[in-house]
Amino acid sequence: MEVHQVFLMNGGSGETEAMQVQPKVMEVPHVLHMNGGCGETSYAKNSVVQNKIISIAKPIIEEAILDLYCNTLPKSLAIADLGCSSGPNTLLVISEIIDTIHEKCCLLNRPSPEFQVFLNDLPANDFNSVFRSLPAFQDKLRQEKGAHFGPCFISGVPGSFYGRLFPDQSLQFVHSSSSLHWLSQVPPELDISTITPLNKQKIFISKTSPPSVIKAYFEQFQRDFSLFLKSRSEEIVPGGRMVLAFVGRRTADPTSEESCHQWELLAHALNDMVLEGIVEEEKVDSFNAPYYSPSPDELKSEIEKQGSFALDQLEVFEVDWDATNGDDGVSEYVQSGISKLTSGQRVSKTIRAVVESMIGHHFGEEIMDDLFQRYSKIVDQYMSENVCKYANLVISVVRKA
Ligand code: SAH
Repeated sequence: MEVHQVFLMNGGSGETEAMQVQPKVMEVPHVLHMNGGCGETSYAKNSVVQNKIISIAKPIIEEAILDLYCNTLPKSLAIADLGCSSGPNTLLVISEIIDTIHEKCCLLNRPSPEFQVFLNDLPANDFNSVFRSLPAFQDKLRQEKGAHFGPCFISGVPGSFYGRLFPDQSLQFVHSSSSLHWLSQVPPELDISTITPLNKQKIFISKTSPPSVIKAYFEQFQRDFSLFLKSRSEEIVPGGRMVLAFVGRRTADPTSEESCHQWELLAHALNDMVLEGIVEEEKVDSFNAPYYSPSPDELKSEIEKQGSFALDQLEVFEVDWDATNGDDGVSEYVQSGISKLTSGQRVSKTIRAVVESMIGHHFGEEIMDDLFQRYSKIVDQYMSENVCKYANLVISVVRKA
């Protein structure tokens, strides 16, 4: 993609000759963002699954932050949340971390540390909504925790976590949820192959993908994850900690249904639209999602190879595709009207809030309503015959001395 990034710098309004013959490639850091605002298709309104993932990982986060605090009793704590997005989940983990530390301080009869919180995401994220929510968040902290709390300084850090974001050894705790399954770019072998597509009729790894596609995805994951670890290893103090949760897979097989099926069904909807002449076949053939869901072994091996972090915990847990399934804890969302929808419609809204920036960029915004209506029906049909769960991996690591 690097070459293409330079190429696209010619941009502006004047098209070069090369631009007319080359298919447009996707610059992930500029394109990817969850749907902003708080409308029907926003991430804020459609992130129940990710909310559930945060609550399942909560005990691991608590254990890690308490261990860090009790070992060092710091006067100030610098915490970063990477891939914070916008909506009800954005400040959730930060507020849980602050609650945990505050409770501990009260128990130990110690003054609360000063908090420095960094909210990171890609530049296209809806940081405006995040910033607008901060005064109310700060007021609530002061009201709940009293005058001796904190203070808590919060700032936004736009940029890719696949690279340096913070000064040397400036952080004690890093958290990231539901973000690291996004790659920094589409594997270059697949971008270049748009003239002769390698992954015909598919938009991610699939049972029918040739081995070269699987290899290209795996190698992109390896490059990205090791760069992520290297960047954080420079930013986190020795003994500092990191808890990361993201979509993965339990099996070694990267073509297993648990890892590919969401994309497979979306490709199904797109291919139906090709048959009806609504979408060009070439468009489907040339789109590949910048995404990878690693297995526990793949993850462990990258951590060991990179060498800066000791693995403290690794857990795999499942979450229903339709997170409202049998759950009373999401009443806020039930009240918002999504309980009236079919499972397929809820899953479709969840996926749309996440992938629309990329899919819309490639296929055109005008097909989005049609595409996701079709997708919801395909998902309903699939869910009526299959148990549909995401596998999530959560790891807790310590920066070696
Ligand atoms: N943590 C939130 C949001 C998850 S959505 C939650 O749990 O609900 C995933 C977020 O990761 C998106 O906002 C996306 O823009 C961000 N993201 C993806 N790749 C990124 C990268 N390379 N650097 C920073 N943020 C990234």
